[in-house]
Amino acid sequence: MGETVTTPKPRSYYNCVECPAFCCSTYERVQVTRRDIRRLAKHFGVTDEVATARYTKMYANERVLRRKRDRLFGQACQFINPETRGCGIYNARPAVCREYPLTKRCAYWDLYKFEKDQQDDPDTLPLVKITFSKWKK
Ligand code: SF4
Ligand code: SF4
Repeated sequence: MGETVTTPKPRSYYNCVECPAFCCSTYERVQVTRRDIRRLAKHFGVTDEVATARYTKMYANERVLRRKRDRLFGQACQFINPETRGCGIYNARPAVCREYPLTKRCAYWDLYKFEKDQQDDPDTLPLVKITFSKWKK
């Protein structure tokens, strides 16, 4: 009889269900590929062209998801559910959303936990703005 080999699920140290979705709000750019657009189009029952125009825009040379006003962070992905803070198109979300954060830890979750303790307030929400530059020592 063959032996059943099971790969243990890698442990992660963040909890998206308890998180107000920093990743869906903080990043100005959520990249979409042609495959992502096809998935969105299928989800909403529209053509690729309609999905592209309705749900995406160009940001520099990149096609990204459109955003909307958000009561917690000012701006967020158009697909976020403002009440549950979950993804409104979970099964049709772009590849980058499926992969994020690619590591066992999420820096935003760590910051969130850290500041709750530092401020001694479970309702504290650290408002973060991130932008990218270059630096070399
Ligand atoms: S910021 Fe991190 S913990 Fe929060 S939803 Fe995104 S991946 Fe999950
Ligand atoms: S598509 Fe969903 S998972 Fe991706 S940024 Fe928007 S709300 Fe978040």
